[in-house]
Amino acid sequence: MAEILVVGAGPVGLTMAAELARHGARCRIIDRLAQPLPYCRAIGVTPRTLEVWDAMGIAREMIDAGIWIEGLRSILHGQPPRDARLELPDLPYAQLGLPQYETERLLARHLGRFGITVERGVTLTGLSQDAEGVAVRLEQAGGGPPESAGFRYVVGCDGAHSAVRRALGIGFEGDAFPMMFMLGDVHIGWDLPRGMALRALRLVEGGAPDMFIAIPLPEPGRYRVSMLAPAGLASPGGSDHGIQAELQGPDLPQIQAVADDLLPDRPRLSDLRWSSVFRISMRLAAHYRQGRAFIAGDAAHIHPPTGGQGMNTGIQDACNLAWKLALVLKGAAPESLLDSYEAERRPVGAEVVARTRAASEGYGREAGSKPDRLADTQILVSYRGTGWVRDDAGGAAGPAAGDRAPDAIGLRRHGVGFPPAALRCAAGDGTPPAGASRRGGHPWERGGSRGFRAGGGAASRPPSAGGRDRAGGRPAGMARPCLLP
Ligand SMILES: Cc1cc2nc3c(=O)[nH]c(=O)nc-3n(C[C@H](O)[C@H](O)[C@H](O)COP(=O)(O)OP(=O)(O)OC[C@H]3O[C@@H](n4cnc5c(N)ncnc54)[C@H](O)[C@@H]3O)c2cc1C
Repeated sequence: MAEILVVGAGPVGLTMAAELARHGARCRIIDRLAQPLPYCRAIGVTPRTLEVWDAMGIAREMIDAGIWIEGLRSILHGQPPRDARLELPDLPYAQLGLPQYETERLLARHLGRFGITVERGVTLTGLSQDAEGVAVRLEQAGGGPPESAGFRYVVGCDGAHSAVRRALGIGFEGDAFPMMFMLGDVHIGWDLPRGMALRALRLVEGGAPDMFIAIPLPEPGRYRVSMLAPAGLASPGGSDHGIQAELQGPDLPQIQAVADDLLPDRPRLSDLRWSSVFRISMRLAAHYRQGRAFIAGDAAHIHPPTGGQGMNTGIQDACNLAWKLALVLKGAAPESLLDSYEAERRPVGAEVVARTRAASEGYGREAGSKPDRLADTQILVSYRGTGWVRDDAGGAAGPAAGDRAPDAIGLRRHGVGFPPAALRCAAGDGTPPAGASRRGGHPWERGGSRGFRAGGGAASRPPSAGGRDRAGGRPAGMARPCLLP
């Protein structure tokens, strides 16, 4: 019998199920939709998520399917374009662009390697729990009697309008932006270098700027474009967050009209594959756990897409919870370890909600203040000082318990074209990082940490003040940054 039910097969639920399986826990995963959504919501994949995918063994296939985001061309109305390259030279990965439908397809394929298939057309409609387990009611899309099933744990990865969160009565406080946005997948005929994103803005006194944003998709010439929806499209129906699949999306002339208004060269848009309208809310769940039920991803935190943080944060929620649930189910850790999930991940969610809200409210008016690139990479996330992290080193210089283990910059090995992570050297693990650096490289040679030398005079970079969290929370007593996500 499956011990865990994962509700929702978006990027967070798929990660949750795959990570549970990797750590040896049996789960079922259901989704009410007969097919995954075709829209490209998330594109931006942070370096931190790529590290998680590396640990899962899927970074390389994700990278192969994506496109590196090389920079941003900004056009402020009436001014000449300005290009900013996105330089992240000290990080193990750059910023990847991968449409969410591809992320979900590849995660589902990865899940299949564990013999797990998403049960589609299955909706969770009831949930109750006691000290022994969680009882759920599941309804099939085709009708028929609902299934009553029991699980040791349930994880709600069921999005902004989470049925699990509602059944648990967990508050989801916050508010919504009043305006509606629209997006579409188009071909654009222009000379923007491949990999560059574009943002054209006209500031509006006392309101959101008029905007046209184009993020490159892996297929040459194609972009996911987004902008404010014109009054005619801003229908009152739908929900207060996310894609409004039941409402009419814009047609190509409506998108072209915005481009013509804001782009001086008036490039020609063509071949609209899909379009939609969406709304944005900012909310954070009051709790991430209640008894034997958990919530993760958009079920726990929703916020503006500015900075591309939502899916990434959710994937990291799942990664944080999965190994803990697996350890508890094996009897290798106490139940109370599960409390560390909320203690570690809810502050991260709160910070992301606040940061993306501030970035959205000041959108286009950032003059003088630089966007916090490192915060957006999520590499700075740390669980330092949270209740489940004990640091016996007592303030010694260097990384602290709960930090992500820093990279050793400059280590080189003969015949290997990409630098090894300090973590792997420390672990004596010579296996290839599944997603080797975008700078390419030769096949990894086995042999642990032996044979590496510092190259180019570079030293190991000290951890930044905020620390970073490859370590994650862990049972007390592990004093150095640990290897678990
Ligand atoms: C325009 C836009 C751009 C974005 N760009 C980015 C970006 O660049 N980077 C980024 O990180 N994030 C981005 N996001 C946010 C990102 O799309 C979400 O954070 C992400 O989809 C959340 O994943 P999830 O798995 O938690 O939820 P979802 O993707 O919403 O998946 C939830 C799943 O649960 C299922 N479900 C719901 N209720 C039930 C039920 N009762 N029973 C069974 N199944 C159920 C649903 O059918 C759905 O498949 C963007 C969002 C938008 C709207």
